Amino acid sequence: MTEQHGNVTVMGIGFTNTTLEGFMDSTIRPCLASEDKCFIVTANPEIVIATRDHPDFRETVQSADHVLPDGIGIINAAKMMGTPLQERVSGIDVMREMLAHAEEKGYSAYFLGAKETSNRKAAERAQKKFPDLKIAGRHHGYADLDDEAFVQDIATTRPDIIFVALGMMKQEHWIRRHMDRFDKGVFMGVGGSFDVLSGEAKRAPNIWIRFQLEWLYRLLKEPKRIFRVLKVAQFMMLHTPIISRIMRLFGFSKTRARGKG
Ligand code: UDP
Repeated sequence: MTEQHGNVTVMGIGFTNTTLEGFMDSTIRPCLASEDKCFIVTANPEIVIATRDHPDFRETVQSADHVLPDGIGIINAAKMMGTPLQERVSGIDVMREMLAHAEEKGYSAYFLGAKETSNRKAAERAQKKFPDLKIAGRHHGYADLDDEAFVQDIATTRPDIIFVALGMMKQEHWIRRHMDRFDKGVFMGVGGSFDVLSGEAKRAPNIWIRFQLEWLYRLLKEPKRIFRVLKVAQFMMLHTPIISRIMRLFGFSKTRARGKG
């Protein structure tokens, strides 16, 4: 069964138009079963904006097999452009689904990234929640991650799934640089997900998520994220028709707003 309906472009990035369930069925399950390699980016507005500011990052994101819309800002932008996406597909939800599926089918997962405590607790919690899950290995994200021997050590464990939690950009670049050293694997950057999975950081309570205020919850917990939030506000303005018209008057063309200028 497939529930994918091509790509929807937001600021020059092609998003896979899917649902969590549809993506598991059409992509993750077949990829794991056939041992095909697959690079997944879960992109929120911060990531899309970063692709505009960093051409090398743009190339990395465009090299992914799938870019999933991980943020209500992306969903709203796509809707405003008249090309709606089916739903938000968040990295942490894809990760949970993958872990459940891996347990059921006997696939292994490698946990790379985050601080040692978060990394260890995330792997332990995953093992507790999914007792039959095979953990291929784990390593915190504060080592020389590009060291040949280090990468080779991970590749030698032959993981079916590689979760990379190094924060946006760093994790996607790492995957792009090193996935050819592996002979199979579904690779996904998962940002701060190990911190949440380990219990070291809390995800926003459901009510905040329901009212689309997860970003505000994180900002209150981590005020230094204010600059990221301001960038997202800029993104929203560039994708709100009336405001974008006003901004065009001030020299921000629509083309530029979509990242082509
Ligand atoms: N991190 C890491 N190595 C680094 C930089 C960051 O392992 O060199 C980890 C950090 O400990 C945290 C995650 O990457 O667990 C970044 O989380 P954040 O929520 O900031 O992710 P983003 O929002 O940037 O995707």
